[in-house]
Amino acid sequence: MMRVGHGYDAHRLVAGRRLVLGGVTIPHERGLLAHSDGDALIHAVCDALLGAAGLGDIGRHFPESQSALSGIDSRILLRRTLGLIDALGFQVANVDATVVAQEPKLAPYFAAMRENLAADLRIDPGQVNLKGTTTEGMGFAGREEGIAAHAVALLGRVTNTE
Ligand code: MG
Repeated sequence: MMRVGHGYDAHRLVAGRRLVLGGVTIPHERGLLAHSDGDALIHAVCDALLGAAGLGDIGRHFPESQSALSGIDSRILLRRTLGLIDALGFQVANVDATVVAQEPKLAPYFAAMRENLAADLRIDPGQVNLKGTTTEGMGFAGREEGIAAHAVALLGRVTNTE
């Protein structure tokens, strides 16, 4: 049985924060404001995985009210998300995501992001596809007010063949 899930996230770009996407720190004059490290790409992937498994969303499992999660590395959240879907007998078939950012250019960092996501999800980097797009100056991403990410994930249930 295959299950598909969708995730979307966006955070505001502010001064004085590191820009972290896909677990990679990207040189930029501003970073994403959030309770965690603000990794909108990983948050979108978590939501896609949780959605495919029928487990709600990232806010339900990792609420901002949990002070222990303040400033947390989102890769930890991704690994915990894998644990949740693993417990239900699902495994990740593939993940595809698009980061929407006017600046900076993300293409040089996609290989490292894929390695991070694949390692955390215990899959091959070939099962993770990442893309970037600008919005040609339109909207909040185009005005560089923030960065957004969309993701889809496909899960398969590990079947007992006995
Ligand atoms: Mg988020």
